[in-house]
Amino acid sequence: MNKAIFLDRDGTIIKDFVYNNDIDKIQIMPGAIEFIKKFQKKFKIIVITNQSAVAKEICSIKKVKNFNKKLIKIFNSYGVKIDKIYFCPHCICGKANKYNVDCECRKPKIGLIKKAQKKYNINLQESYMIGDKLTDVQCGNNANCLKSYLLSDTFTFDDIAKDIII
Ligand SMILES: [Zn+2]
Repeated sequence: MNKAIFLDRDGTIIKDFVYNNDIDKIQIMPGAIEFIKKFQKKFKIIVITNQSAVAKEICSIKKVKNFNKKLIKIFNSYGVKIDKIYFCPHCICGKANKYNVDCECRKPKIGLIKKAQKKYNINLQESYMIGDKLTDVQCGNNANCLKSYLLSDTFTFDDIAKDIII
């Protein structure tokens, strides 16, 4: 079985511009590259992200997918391997479309983690979740990850790296 580090996207590995998904605006968060590099050999690196902008019709599925592809490429260019990015396009806060549903994948629900677990044969009890929002931490806890971390200005990737058991 594999171990994973689950990472939130906006505000965690890249700067959060609300509902951006504009490729030109990608800015990698401080410490993210060094952090992932440290763990990418021992852990699957899986990004899970809520993109309710799709339900709100601010942004298309295609745009999110293209953005995620580009994001993986940019990280690759720094020698960083992101295995997969999963996103939830849903929200009951959205407009009247097929994405306006109470889904099982919007964090803090664990649908995206479950998807990854199945595809990559992940042992969640040896895996970690990192995000900048409480819903990220709740998601990791709901999925029975070993530990879930709330990233902030005072609790950085460096601090988290010291705590993770390889
Ligand atoms: Zn969803």
